[in-house]
Amino acid sequence: MAPTVKCPTCSQSVVFEEASRHRPFCSERCKLIDLGEWATESYVMEGPPLEEEDLSEGLEDMEISPKNWS
Ligand SMILES: [Zn+2]
Repeated sequence: MAPTVKCPTCSQSVVFEEASRHRPFCSERCKLIDLGEWATESYVMEGPPLEEEDLSEGLEDMEISPKNWS
């Protein structure tokens, strides 16, 4: 007999077997909710993207370089 686990999202009992495609979650919805919460947490920890700031710093360096050449 297959063991049962509790869905991490809604705590519903899920039979841990091949037929339970989203185990240990009870459904795809609960799986997506859990993954979504994880993604949100990691995004907050990393903070906002700094790509724009890095780009403007690079442009400043390029403006300085031609002056050094002349
Ligand atoms: Zn669930």
